[in-house]
Amino acid sequence: MIEILKDRKKQVFQKGAETGDRGIVCEKASLAGSVSQRACVFCGSRVVLYPIADALHLVHGPVGCAAYTWDIRGSLSSGPELHRLSFSTDLREKEVIFGGEKKLYAALTELIKAYAPKAAFVYATCIIGLIGDDVQAVCKKVQAEQGIPVIPVHSEGFRGTKKDGYKAACEALFRLVVEGGGQPGFPLSINILGDFNLAGETWMIKEYYRQMGIKVVSCITGDGRVDEIRESSRAGLNVVQCSGSMTQLAKMMEETYGLPFKRVSYFGIEDTAEALYSVARHFDDLQVMRKTEELVRSEVNRIYPEVQHYRKALEGKKAAIYVGGSFKAFSLVKALRHLGIQTAIVGSQTGNPEDYEYLKEICDAGTIIVDDTNPLELSRFMMEKDVDLLIGGVKERPIAYKMGAAFCDHNHERKTALAGFEGMLNFCREVYASIMSPVWQFSPARQRRATMEQTFSEEITKAMFST
Ligand code: SF4
Repeated sequence: MIEILKDRKKQVFQKGAETGDRGIVCEKASLAGSVSQRACVFCGSRVVLYPIADALHLVHGPVGCAAYTWDIRGSLSSGPELHRLSFSTDLREKEVIFGGEKKLYAALTELIKAYAPKAAFVYATCIIGLIGDDVQAVCKKVQAEQGIPVIPVHSEGFRGTKKDGYKAACEALFRLVVEGGGQPGFPLSINILGDFNLAGETWMIKEYYRQMGIKVVSCITGDGRVDEIRESSRAGLNVVQCSGSMTQLAKMMEETYGLPFKRVSYFGIEDTAEALYSVARHFDDLQVMRKTEELVRSEVNRIYPEVQHYRKALEGKKAAIYVGGSFKAFSLVKALRHLGIQTAIVGSQTGNPEDYEYLKEICDAGTIIVDDTNPLELSRFMMEKDVDLLIGGVKERPIAYKMGAAFCDHNHERKTALAGFEGMLNFCREVYASIMSPVWQFSPARQRRATMEQTFSEEITKAMFST
């Protein structure tokens, strides 16, 4: 039997258990040796900036860092696709000893000449933090020579958690925003922050706003463009979807330009409707509100019968959710409820205390809530709760399959859009297809789980949560 590591016990919580009134400990560095599912600081920056399609992304470090994040998101572009290439300075022993600044300067100069990007982002990786290259100085020099923004991203992998990578990406983006520097003024206009257009979601959301009569000034960063980001301070509202990664940028823009922001989610029926309504309410425009009501009504009427069809088959199933940001987890709990699926386990890599309090509120008694979990913990909880489905990302997929559970990718790798009303239908279809697959009956783990059910009794649960 697998025990929760002693120093992680306070990062695990069960609603309604004896320790139910204590808060969950979160926002701390991963416990050494726990094999956290979290990515490094550099990866956090890379995934946020990656979808800017007309920028050059140069990873300053050993080639492995670039290979690890090469084409890491499936972010679609309606135009240039420079973001899909992974450039690296490929540092070797020689540069580790004598410094990599010359190599960085040469790589930047050569790449800008070859690809004529609108801007360049230079990511500092772990090794740069150790050898101390002055990335800022090299970027400044190349910017002066080449006449495009060359922006250092201070994302040395060991510097903190993935969340620190988001922060570094927001600081880099803010440099572009400041370059444009216009005051808010476009009427009925927004920026879409924190959607990465993995499978065309940004386009779906943009279409909703078009139908509502709202102008989208920039998408940061899904299908992103440097010039649009430079214009972004002129919009009337920042609408933030992935709050974990983009709230920092929204706050910086609010402080500097007085540009307000709203946190929303475009996942699930209620949250998508509420996202659109909250933008309509912000502008307090009768026409916009009327068009929003029409849009929501017709979309809900269109998809609801099919959702009910899947619910009939899925009612009573149990799910585990482990995602990067907790805002996504909130929406998933609600969306699963529409399908009659109970959330038995839910967790995130980057949730804060308020996020976990909200999760406690919306989850059923008995739900296990975890911060920064690891594969062994997750497997154990899945076994104990006998879940039918795991929703997660690339690193969780093998866990689900090894445990004989269905899987829904809600992260970088998926190819089907899960945002908006149409996305809810796609989600239902995917969950249905995976859970109802006959393959799980042949899974050895599933067969073992059936015979071990008795072993995972109430007593074990009690022992796990006693402090
Ligand atoms: S930055 Fe560091 S932790 Fe991240 S991939 Fe590179 S070497 Fe690994």
